Amino acid sequence: MKGLRFYGDGRAAVEDVPVPEPKKGEVLLRTAVSALCGSEHADYLAGLEEMPGHEFAGIVEETNGCGMLKPGDQVTVNVIKGCGNCYFCKKGQPQFCSSFSVLSGGHAEYAAVPEQCCIRLPEGMEMEVGVLLGGDTLGVAYRAIGKIRQDWARNAAVFGAGPIGLGVISLLKYYGYHVSVWEPNPIRRQYALDLAGADEAGEAYDPESEPKADVVFECSGNAAAELSALEGVRPAGTVVFCGENYRELKIVPSYQIIHREVTLTGAFYYTRQDFYDLCEIYYRGFDPRSAVSHIFPLEEAPEACRMFFGGKTAKVLLKR
Ligand SMILES: [Zn+2]
Ligand SMILES: [Zn+2]
Repeated sequence: MKGLRFYGDGRAAVEDVPVPEPKKGEVLLRTAVSALCGSEHADYLAGLEEMPGHEFAGIVEETNGCGMLKPGDQVTVNVIKGCGNCYFCKKGQPQFCSSFSVLSGGHAEYAAVPEQCCIRLPEGMEMEVGVLLGGDTLGVAYRAIGKIRQDWARNAAVFGAGPIGLGVISLLKYYGYHVSVWEPNPIRRQYALDLAGADEAGEAYDPESEPKADVVFECSGNAAAELSALEGVRPAGTVVFCGENYRELKIVPSYQIIHREVTLTGAFYYTRQDFYDLCEIYYRGFDPRSAVSHIFPLEEAPEACRMFFGGKTAKVLLKR
């Protein structure tokens, strides 16, 4: 089968690799589509032993000791695999399990996936829609918006218009918010306006400007942007961190949090229930394709990666 490999320094290739063998409790999925994700950038630069790809959907080809799925079922994949036994796994929140692992291998024609990570698509749902509703672009965006008090927040600011930022913008617009976007890359700014439907877009947010946003979604993971989110939200407003940042961030709690009663929270991945909620929103008219700018065949994945990780696209799909 064909599969994408990352060799480091931005070198990628589509190669012939063996079809994986599903272990007990796994299905072999014939993938139909996968999506490139900003969180793969580090692997694209550093190289990756295994096959990349953590957002994908496909058709069950065969099963090995599975109870629910059968060949022919169409599924999307939630790649967080929890222990299955702890409090959070039992609550359907494996992303909080202390021993979760993350599957990959979706940028290939076939993938072996634990049955517990597959989510059956509603009858008739297109694979492209399934991979978007069942990926972390909209999943994280949906969780992030779930963190805010929607009864009073109408003015939202979004920092960073990569895929997650675009997902946040398009959902906020669906819900009827006024959305301003702050993004230094002019190509992404334009996607935020044209694809995701943002009301206004600028290069960098000025925390001193008025009126301040009721809620700020920080989707860049940049420390300076995180600070301006905390300083730029209105008093008693909410800041949601969605952009991953493993570095230190220095704040003065009295200034940034206490005196202005700012709520700071985060959003991480998504649950099966979030997927079902997103399906409901989709059937009420939300278009998940509003974050997608390019669709490439899997064979052209290296070119797709060059453009995507070079900041020249919005969300990118790889079709088989
Ligand atoms: Zn992702
Ligand atoms: Zn667990």
